[in-house]
Amino acid sequence: MNPPLIYDLDLPDLARLLESWGEPAYRARQVWQGLYHAFHASPAEFTTLPASLRQKLAEAFRFQVLAPMTVLESSDRQTIKTLFRLDDERAIEAVLMRYDKRRTLCISTQVGCAMGCAFCATGQMGFGRHLSSGEIVAQVMHYARLLHATGETVTNVVVMGMGEPFHNYENTLAAIDRLNDADGYNFGARRFTISTVGLVPMIRRFAQEQRQVNLAISLHAADDALRLSMMPVTKKYSIDEILAACQEYVAATGRRVTFEWALIREVNDTPEQARLLAHKLKGLLCHVNVIPLNPTDGFAGQATTRERAEAFQASLEANGIPCTIRLRRGIDIQAGCGQLASRAAVKTPTPADAGRDIP
Ligand code: SF4
Repeated sequence: MNPPLIYDLDLPDLARLLESWGEPAYRARQVWQGLYHAFHASPAEFTTLPASLRQKLAEAFRFQVLAPMTVLESSDRQTIKTLFRLDDERAIEAVLMRYDKRRTLCISTQVGCAMGCAFCATGQMGFGRHLSSGEIVAQVMHYARLLHATGETVTNVVVMGMGEPFHNYENTLAAIDRLNDADGYNFGARRFTISTVGLVPMIRRFAQEQRQVNLAISLHAADDALRLSMMPVTKKYSIDEILAACQEYVAATGRRVTFEWALIREVNDTPEQARLLAHKLKGLLCHVNVIPLNPTDGFAGQATTRERAEAFQASLEANGIPCTIRLRRGIDIQAGCGQLASRAAVKTPTPADAGRDIP
């Protein structure tokens, strides 16, 4: 069996372990800061530690769990997508997007996804397994290290890559808490955004936990029939149930909800959908992000046009719903979630892996 991943530990876990090894109390903090301040990626880099401790750490833990298999850079050099191989030969993706002064990462929480959204390459792949909290943390640290080398820093993390984060709730939130640790990477909770298809019990739980992390809902349709044709989760949770949970979230946290909407030409970019969406969102503290669909091989829908996107936005705004048109980034490097992994010659999910126990 593989030794545990160092990024799976919180600082108190590490402190307890080092104490059991007879190390002085300050060593745990030294290791922690080596990982999260100096971005060390192997025990050999911890030169402030005695050689005997470096050796013990090397034997007790894995430090590198993500093996970059493919790295693609967009033609404008602003987007870098990495396909990583995990220890069990599965593959996940994470993307860095540079935009003005922002350095935004999009990270994965699962291998594949059980939600089966028709327009999504990851959904078309099926479910493999949950990532551990350390595997989620490691994606951020990979890019943090890369940016550190050029004097840049990560400014935002969106949990919108492969997988449904609320299907892997504990590990996702544990990863965010670890990255948020003031003694470690100290990445502000408000700079994270979690995107969910709308797992209602988990939205409620998230609301009750009163977290500062931003919440986004992948909505994509304003009526259940259309949504069900693209997003099987609609069978379990209707749009009205999701919006009721969002109301609870806003009431509990005072925070705004973002709705994500991939505009598919003549499917969900119509005046009727815009009007119905505005009607449903009326009175909710929210914002809508629309983005032209990123086409995938397994879905026939086409991206909307600029004119139709602007008309959709204008309709929402005329009805008092703030709306932003987002740019598709990294289209030339298959930056849509799962597009690279679905083509990779590594172990991909099989129907037998199909996800169960969706909350
Ligand atoms: S859009 Fe998100 S939730 Fe839907 S299948 Fe893709 S990864 Fe899963």
